[in-house]
Amino acid sequence: MYTFNPGPSAVYPAVRQYLTDAFDEGWLSAPHRSEKVTALVRQTVADLKSKLNVPQDYTVLFTGSATECWEILAQSLTPRRSFHLYNGDFGEKWYKYAKALRPASTGLSFGLDELPDIASLPFAPDDTDLVCITQNETSTATQLREGFILNLYNRLGGALLAVDATSSLAGLNLKYIKADIWYGSVQKCFGLPAGLGVMILSPRAVAQAKLVNDRAHYNALPAMLSQMLNHQTNYTPNVLGIYLMSRVLADREPIKAVAQHLADRAEKLYAFFDQATPLQPFVHNPETRSTTVIGLAGEAALIEEIKAKAKEAGLQLGSGYGPLKNTTIRIANFPAVPDAAMEALVQFFAKEYPG
Ligand SMILES: *Cc1c(COP(=O)(O)O)cnc(C)c1O
Repeated sequence: MYTFNPGPSAVYPAVRQYLTDAFDEGWLSAPHRSEKVTALVRQTVADLKSKLNVPQDYTVLFTGSATECWEILAQSLTPRRSFHLYNGDFGEKWYKYAKALRPASTGLSFGLDELPDIASLPFAPDDTDLVCITQNETSTATQLREGFILNLYNRLGGALLAVDATSSLAGLNLKYIKADIWYGSVQKCFGLPAGLGVMILSPRAVAQAKLVNDRAHYNALPAMLSQMLNHQTNYTPNVLGIYLMSRVLADREPIKAVAQHLADRAEKLYAFFDQATPLQPFVHNPETRSTTVIGLAGEAALIEEIKAKAKEAGLQLGSGYGPLKNTTIRIANFPAVPDAAMEALVQFFAKEYPG
């Protein structure tokens, strides 16, 4: 069975061996302040930076999930308010989390085929702590490209740019230098089981976290940052998750090659579904289509039939998300989904639904 769920998603087959190795090598009961574990954390952070092209002066922290990052950012980097730009469920949820903690926060939604006009965004740069975007909106299969993020970054004033990259971190060659906070979790493009989040901070974000000096939460940034100086965490971390990440990163090609492979596959899939199938990509603008999550739309009854038939053929298609649950399917174009799965998917549609 191939799974195309966009999270939790396909894990690398090698994870099976890594799990056995983790047990045999004693990682599951290794004390988290021991040299064994701190050396692992140091190495994993170094590999993450080199394999994903993260600038050396950025700081990498481990969290429990991407959702937890929403809360940390509101608590530790938002003394006043954040401004949220969103076009799907994840971006909107982030906005709601932020507003619950910082009621002065505001948001603006935009259409799937649309790019917001940066010059007229309704936020006051000198009265806003964070500008928040979702680089790859998993629920609507849309994406904000490098050029948009760069233009936004250039208009920030005193605000920091925070980017939810949960379904693109470790899949795309992100330009980390053009934002201050990037985060994601590992059950998407890392090809790993859930239970670990990663947050990447610019020197400007680290300085701001020290200034805000949140001490009221167990995962407050100042404490996380000072522990990470010694490659440690405030609490007993997910050592197994970090170990699995270290193994996956060691096996990985540099991100440039990974991203190119995904871009090539996305182009082929969009071209295929634009033509001869009963389902159509529901994002029409090629400039706003995601390269890591392909969204297809159709009648609810047809979607149900296709999902059932595909399952019989050994293909687990991803359901729609939130309000799009019954009228869309999503195809994860993540690094751990093998080329053979993509070929099987195309063959399934060519055979069952010839144009
Ligand atoms: C999956 C996802 C999340 C939530 O991730 P968790 O690890 O479940 O907290 C947040 N944002 C985006 C864009 C996602 O795709």
